[in-house]
Amino acid sequence: MTTIPTRIESTLLRRINERRLLEAIQRHGPSSRAMLTRVSGLTAPTVSKAVDALLKRGLVEELEPVEQALGRPGKLVRMAAESAAVLGVVIDAATCCVVAAGLDGQVTEQQTRRFDTPDSYTDLIDALEDQCRGLLASVTGKTHGIGVSVPGLINDRLEEIVFSPNLHALDKRNPARDLEKRLGIPCQLVQETDALCLSERMYGDARGLEDFAVLDAATGLGLSVMSGGRLLAGHSGMAGEVGHITVALDGVRCGCGNRGCLETLATDSALLRLLAEKVGRPLDADHAAALLADRSADFQHELRTVGEYLAIAIATVINIFNPTTLFVHGRLLAGAPDRFARVLERVKQRTLTASLADCTIVTTRSSKRQGAIAGIMHHLTNAWAPTVR
Ligand SMILES: [Zn+2]
Repeated sequence: MTTIPTRIESTLLRRINERRLLEAIQRHGPSSRAMLTRVSGLTAPTVSKAVDALLKRGLVEELEPVEQALGRPGKLVRMAAESAAVLGVVIDAATCCVVAAGLDGQVTEQQTRRFDTPDSYTDLIDALEDQCRGLLASVTGKTHGIGVSVPGLINDRLEEIVFSPNLHALDKRNPARDLEKRLGIPCQLVQETDALCLSERMYGDARGLEDFAVLDAATGLGLSVMSGGRLLAGHSGMAGEVGHITVALDGVRCGCGNRGCLETLATDSALLRLLAEKVGRPLDADHAAALLADRSADFQHELRTVGEYLAIAIATVINIFNPTTLFVHGRLLAGAPDRFARVLERVKQRTLTASLADCTIVTTRSSKRQGAIAGIMHHLTNAWAPTVR
């Protein structure tokens, strides 16, 4: 028996089709309507209607016709790269950055602003507002939204950062809400490792993957898991805090207040601390990278220690979540191919053989600024229609 869809049902169906089209354009790049009909499984008239609706909303734009072997030249449709924009804001313990991009998500140095993270929350919001306004003045077309990537635990039900172990100025705050009030543009808060996960799926090597994980071993140790095409959130969105598992009973104090947390031993920050202790002066990440490039041989003990704990972190994620691919993000260890290869040797010793055989371990291709852009694009897509599998 067939039934006539109600108006609400047909609106929902139309939006679901538009979302499916939008995801196809994101995945395949500039495409003709004929190509979109082939890859989406929708009928040609449905594709045509959905493309028209997306054009009207300013989410996609058309390119000049291309020559075809047969028939009329077809116009290409792509994510709006010149006629619309989104902004990404990355808040981190030492530095912040603000970036403007088209809806195709291409980020450039020219459209990126960086500054040291101010000590107080008010100064932070003031600085972010200034930098965002500067970039907004330089973009053309409508700015659809701003993704705000933050470290720490976001409680989705309370809609705030409940606790940020490495940047306590963010505790009990929601910088996305505060920026939105000042700028009048929709702002979306996104946890920094979830942002990286979305970015790998949207722009990196996780395109098309349903079950994978991202381990961020830069400042803190964050984990984001995509399971069956959805981010694992837990009851309130705070899942994934692998960094605060105790691994050294009397270890150094962690930003969370506990001692001996995995993130005090397995991250770029941990290596930075050990290197600074050895050379007897404070170091930032640039100094540490230069020091290691010059004199890696002098720091074998420190590299081995942090590498061993990073291997334990990687093994933990693989043993528990059985991902098809694990993406590791970082600079001093994950970002240096020879050092990362040594970490992977240790992973073999620490992981269950069957789980390791099922998993590919690679480094991330995307950055946190791309993650902030992916965060707002994910939100804009989700806000339009639910996903259907
Ligand atoms: Zn901790």
